[in-house]
Amino acid sequence: MSKQLAIDNSQVRTFQKCQKEYLFRHVWDLTPGLEPWLLTGSAWGAAMDVVWKSEEGPSETIAAAIAAFEEVIASRIDELSDEGSEDWRIVNRHHYHEALAEYLSQYQDLIRETFDPAKTECEIPFEVPLPLPGTDETFFLTGRMDKIVWNIAEESWWVVEHKTTGMWLGDAYMRQWSNSGQVRTYGFVGRKRWGSEFGGILVDCTSVAKKGKIAMQMLPITLPPLAGGEWEKDMREIALAIAARRAGQARYVKSSDACERFGRICCYFEPCGIDYDPRQDPASWGFRVEHWDPRDI
Ligand code: SF4
Repeated sequence: MSKQLAIDNSQVRTFQKCQKEYLFRHVWDLTPGLEPWLLTGSAWGAAMDVVWKSEEGPSETIAAAIAAFEEVIASRIDELSDEGSEDWRIVNRHHYHEALAEYLSQYQDLIRETFDPAKTECEIPFEVPLPLPGTDETFFLTGRMDKIVWNIAEESWWVVEHKTTGMWLGDAYMRQWSNSGQVRTYGFVGRKRWGSEFGGILVDCTSVAKKGKIAMQMLPITLPPLAGGEWEKDMREIALAIAARRAGQARYVKSSDACERFGRICCYFEPCGIDYDPRQDPASWGFRVEHWDPRDI
């Protein structure tokens, strides 16, 4: 087994969903074409970096935030399929500009009064070594936090996670974050890194619906003090299962329950159905070979 096994939240999610998909995506590094929702999500993240670090007035901040949003779109829009670039999220991206203006009017004062912009840092990679159970080896729990911010009144660090969606921000949508693997990972890392100076995780959700309807909610999540516990045990067990498969000691099992979700067919459905290894000719299957590591900035 590799002493350098590094797993992030996306790997854990994929492995729990379907091990065969894990093989395609995270071992063979076969990456499907860029989706419009991913592009608008990363453009929104770039705009948030401007907003949360800004010490300027609202008009300068909104202009800089829209410029950052558009810069990301321009840099990657050619990677979208024709259908993808016609997607409403891209064609109607003025809805996102309007959402940014709404975001500023709703949150800019709150952000400034609560957090110190001089201490705000964006896109923070992390790496926590953990023992692999039953071995003398180590794996690394890795990831990247959208932002870390300093709460002035509480004198504590918070992790900010931005989410964009086209869904309504109802109870079901908001509730899913409270106990999500991502939030628990941030909680674990935050408590290891800052100890009693760790405040919690702020999940910052923005919904931009098809007709431009905008909704926003911030969900602050605080967690009990670090005590190891079930979650850490689960992470170690998953790392052990991944390490065994990467070392060829077990096979990647298909999970046909996961082939269709939310009306979308798994992007590996065709090669998976005929047990074909698409690494020979990835482009003809619409894949790029790309390894994403949250620690690479
Ligand atoms: S098609 Fe189904 S079984 Fe195959 S990788 Fe995708 S989710 Fe897994």
